[in-house]
Formats: sequence, C-alpha cells, structure tokens
Amino acid sequence: MVTAVPCGVDVDSPVPVDLAIIGGGVAGLSLARAAAMQGARVVLLEQSEDAAVGWRGGGASSLPVALLNPWRGRKGDAHEDDLRGLAVTWRWAAELEGEGLEPGAVRTGVLRIPSSARQAASWRERCEAEASLIWLPAGSVPAPYHAPFGAMQAEDGGRIDAAAWLTALAASAARHGAQLRQGVEVQAVEHGVEGAWRVRGEDGGMLVEAWRVVSAVGADAPPRVQGGGEPAPWPTWIRTQGEEVRITGVPTLPWPIAGGLYGASVQEGEAWIGGGHRPLGEDDPSAATNLRDAFAWSYPPVAEGTILEVWHGARAKREGARPDVREVAPGLWTFGAFAGRGFLCAADEAERFARRVKPMQ
Ligand SMILES: Cc1cc2nc3c(=O)[nH]c(=O)nc-3n(C[C@H](O)[C@H](O)[C@H](O)COP(=O)(O)OP(=O)(O)OC[C@H]3O[C@@H](n4cnc5c(N)ncnc54)[C@H](O)[C@@H]3O)c2cc1C
Repeated sequence: MVTAVPCGVDVDSPVPVDLAIIGGGVAGLSLARAAAMQGARVVLLEQSEDAAVGWRGGGASSLPVALLNPWRGRKGDAHEDDLRGLAVTWRWAAELEGEGLEPGAVRTGVLRIPSSARQAASWRERCEAEASLIWLPAGSVPAPYHAPFGAMQAEDGGRIDAAAWLTALAASAARHGAQLRQGVEVQAVEHGVEGAWRVRGEDGGMLVEAWRVVSAVGADAPPRVQGGGEPAPWPTWIRTQGEEVRITGVPTLPWPIAGGLYGASVQEGEAWIGGGHRPLGEDDPSAATNLRDAFAWSYPPVAEGTILEVWHGARAKREGARPDVREVAPGLWTFGAFAGRGFLCAADEAERFARRVKPMQ
C-alpha cells in the first residue's frame, strides 16, 4: 500500500523539479514511474485520497477490471501502437513482480465473438495471418459462451485488477524516487522564472515549481493557466461515460470477452461486465440492466445473475482515438485521451515520453 512515500525530491527546494504531473490515474502514475526510472526528479499531485485501499485515483482508472486487448472495433484489427502497448504492459507486469509487487495483471487470453457470418469470415482470415490469434470455429467454443459464428482468441490478451496495478505503479514510482502526493488538488499553473512553471493549489499556494508540467487529468477539466493573457492551450476532447457491473450467480468466464461490451471473472461465480458510450452528463437509470441484457447474447447465464454493484466512469478521447501526448506551450504538456485504452497504452506512451524528459541538472 502506498500513502506517504519516501522521496528523492525536496518540494520545498527553490530548485524546480524536472517534472510535475497533475493526476494520478494510470496515465500519471505510469509517467511518474517511467520518468523517475530515467533519473528525472518527479512530483505527482492527485486530488483524491484513498490511503486505506492503496491507490485508486479518482477518475476512470478507478474502474474495477480493465481488459488488455489490442484487437479492437468491428474489424477486429490492431493498431501497431496498441500491439507495442500490450508488449510493454506485460513487460512492466513482469518488472513489477520482480520488484516484489502484485500488479494484478493476468494473461488469460481474451475472446472476441463476431455477431455475423461476414464478420466471422474476415476475423478468421486475420487469425490465419497473425501468430498470436487463434480461430475457434462455431461449435468448438465451449458452453456457456454463445458464439454461433465462431470466435477469435487473442492469446496475448488479459485482464488487470486496476487497483492492484495502480498501487504497484505508485509503489514502484516511489521506490525510483518520485514523490507522490494524494489529497492535493491543483487549481492553476503559471509561468515562473527562466521558463519554469509554478503549480498552485486550492488556496493559491505554490505546491511545486517544475521545468515541465504534465496534465494527466483524464476526463476532468485541466488546470487553469494563469498570467500571460494567452488563451488556455489545452486540447478539447470528447468525453463519454460508461459502467462496469458486478454480477453474481454466474459461471466463471474462463476467458474474458473483449469488445464494445466486455466481461471478465475475477472471483468464482461472478462476472464484471462493462461498456457504455453515452455523452458525459447523460444519465440512464437502466444502463446496468441494459448492459447485462446485451452481454447475455454472448454469455447467456448473466441474464439470470444478480447485479451487486455498479461503477460509473468517464473517459476522454480525441478524433481517431489515439492518445494525445504533446507540448501545448513551452514546458506544458498534455498526456491523456487514452479513451478505452489507458491500461493498454499508458506504459508505452510513458516510456516514450520519459525518454524525452532528460533531467535538467
Ligand atoms: C466504462 C469504461 C471501461 C473501460 N475499460 C477499459 C479497458 O477494459 N481497458 C483499458 O485499457 N481501458 C479501459 N477504459 C479506459 C481507461 O479507464 C482510461 O483510459 C484510463 O483510466 C484513463 O487514465 P487517465 O490517467 O488518463 O485518467 P484518470 O484515470 O481519469 O485519472 C485522472 C486523475 O487526475 C486526477 N485529477 C483531476 N483533476 C485534478 C487536479 N486538478 N488536481 C489533481 N488531480 C486531479 C483525478 O482525480 C484522477 O485520479 C475504460 C474506461 C471506462 C469509462
């Protein structure tokens, strides 16, 4: 568990740190770990506080279960960045285990179940061309899956217990010298001296000064940029909300089902199913039951299961659905728009970013 952490950074020092990260979801924590491992002096500020349960963050990364699946969309194809993201995530899982941590990542493989014969034909061709994919013909997919056209099995896919992953990332980042602070809401950033940035908290007090500031706030509003009179440099993203629903009285899924509607078992006799892409703010009181009923097409027993718990969350994406990692003003970065891929892509994006963030002195 990580609450207060040992630190290689003195935030009261008049010398700016290399990197201040705003937001401690999977994006911010991955970046903190990767940059600290490169020797950068890192401070991460997270507004939520959940010391009693390890590290959960306050945004989309607090979801119960994330799937790792690069084979996406109706076409079931994979972007090269997602394939690299998957490989880096598994490497990180092994590294975190090597550090004696419990990252909660399990290489179960995942199934994608086509909804038509035409889709099945194209996915079958893909399986013939890709070594990590196996085509399961109709009839060979074991009950109680309902896969009338067959199924595509991605052997490299898996699932992550998100709280375990975040807690392990936080512990590892701290061990590498990053300072992680929970219960600290950033209100604004402003220009400091010699190109550094000042990060200010609720009462306007200075939290830290940094050569580079990264906003990793997910679907939340990024901090105000004060002074200078320039318009806010932050990109505009599309925000959608969805659910994960815990259902009991359901046969355990041997392989998670991936896709727009997805499901996985973490405990015997239970399933977490997820999905939903409503615009942010559009409430739907039937969302959980609709999700369960729609998922029942590919896994019929959930229709009879009991809903125990519902988690709601919002994700941010941009056109094209690729993550948005860029310098929006000198020394000011955005690191987000991970859409439904935060756990798949954040480790790789963080490593690529961290290679650019050389320690300043
Ligand atoms: C229903 C649903 C299902 C999903 N399923 C999957 C999946 O199966 N696989 C997958 O890879 N991804 C999945 N995702 C996507 C994944 O959850 C996100 O991509 C990822 O969590 C985004 O991480 P983030 O760190 O960018 O944002 P967040 O997790 O939202 O983190 C942002 C953090 O910033 C903090 N913050 C905000 N403002 C401030 C401030 N001013 N000061 C300090 N802190 C601040 C927040 O408290 C929060 O902790 C799913 C998302 C949803 C909604």
